[in-house]
Amino acid sequence: MTMKSRQKRIEGMDKKYLWHPFTQMQEWVEQSPLIITEGRGTYIKDARGRWYIDGISSLWVTVHGHRKQEIDTAIKEQLDKISHSTLLGFTNPLAAELAEKLVQITPDGLSRVFYSDNGSTAVEVGLKIAYQYWQQRGVKDKKKFLSLKNAYHGDTIGAVSVGGIDLFHKVYSPLLFKSFKAPSPCCYRCELKKRYPSCSLSCLKQMEKILKRNHGEIAALIIEPLVQGAAGMILSPPRYLKGVQGLCRKYNVLLIADEVATGFGRTGTLFACDHEGVRPDIMCLAKGITAGYLPLAATVTTEKIYRAFLGKYEDLKTFFHGHTYSGNQLACAAALASLNVFRKERTLQKLQTKIDLLEKELDAIAGMPHVGEVRQKGFMVGIELVRDRKTKEPYALEERIGWKVCSRARLKGVLIRPLGDVIVLMPPLSISRDELKSLLRVTGEAIQEITR
Ligand code: PMP
Repeated sequence: MTMKSRQKRIEGMDKKYLWHPFTQMQEWVEQSPLIITEGRGTYIKDARGRWYIDGISSLWVTVHGHRKQEIDTAIKEQLDKISHSTLLGFTNPLAAELAEKLVQITPDGLSRVFYSDNGSTAVEVGLKIAYQYWQQRGVKDKKKFLSLKNAYHGDTIGAVSVGGIDLFHKVYSPLLFKSFKAPSPCCYRCELKKRYPSCSLSCLKQMEKILKRNHGEIAALIIEPLVQGAAGMILSPPRYLKGVQGLCRKYNVLLIADEVATGFGRTGTLFACDHEGVRPDIMCLAKGITAGYLPLAATVTTEKIYRAFLGKYEDLKTFFHGHTYSGNQLACAAALASLNVFRKERTLQKLQTKIDLLEKELDAIAGMPHVGEVRQKGFMVGIELVRDRKTKEPYALEERIGWKVCSRARLKGVLIRPLGDVIVLMPPLSISRDELKSLLRVTGEAIQEITR
């Protein structure tokens, strides 16, 4: 079969049998899909043999680049032993060792690891644990959750219930449980019409009002620490997260930190909570945990929470929840190997100068006429495009400006994916300085050419 006919066959099968995530399939079948066949370091290759910079780390997961030798080897070696065994009724060396490591690296106080296999399930687990914790402590009224507007915690029903992005979530509203919603700490489009820092964090005061009135009913507050990712990389102002922790303690509400996107170095520290010394009661991890190799997630809790689930079997205090692939051995091998690379290569220490370079390179983009705001926390970047910089008037939905910019970048050898009109950059932490410059140059050119 020639290369061309092979591509045609893949495209045919895709269009006939596949249903893609977050994709209007009616449009999808009218275009030629990019078929990814290979990866190496910062680059991924398509079926026509063209290489692209992976500017979004294959949806925010690739940490040390593609085909990182240490991780490849760890998985291959594990394949010669066993790929999977269940954690229901048995254990395995890798799941146990990874649990120990996760407890060591997550903020103080977190001491128990519950595995699942994706970000949404890590969140579901966190919500269910928080709810059941209070029930078993006899605090029966604490059944609800407080979350933020603009929040994104995944696509399962519980995660959507604590979500706050109308575009994705509204259609499902009849299926969801009600949760309290605090303002999003979005300074660029502050819903309280204030300005930082003269606002003295009014959004926190609003949050406190909700807690003061309803804390007796609220089991937990769930938050994406520092960066509301899917909403377009909305950064919370300094001390906001610490303030949220303070309110949770004051009103006796558990704090769930959803570090699915921010975890494993993305914001410049291993976890976003580390920036402000925040110690959540529950932390949700996924995405970067296996450095982009295999699906694995973990929900890490304090010992106090864990203890509320202890008792005789007939007390029925068990956490009745489990996923088939919990603690999968191949995935745990990848995660352990990734943590080794972090340590051996001093990934985070080396990252800082690249974060500075990224910041410097973003300056040129920030000055462009249709760039409303550039938001950066570590290696998470959102570039918000607007029709009018002065009034912050957005582009019309049907203009698809973000999508057009990313399509243009693709022609220039860079793969990025927008969130509406926000261009997202999330390169692998291992990207070289030259590759980082290329990524920024192409992104800038694409923005300029499309918004001109
Ligand atoms: N929480 C956050 C903060 C996320 O960004 C995401 C995914 N983008 C999820 C949860 C859900 O993760 P998954 O797609 O693996 O279910």
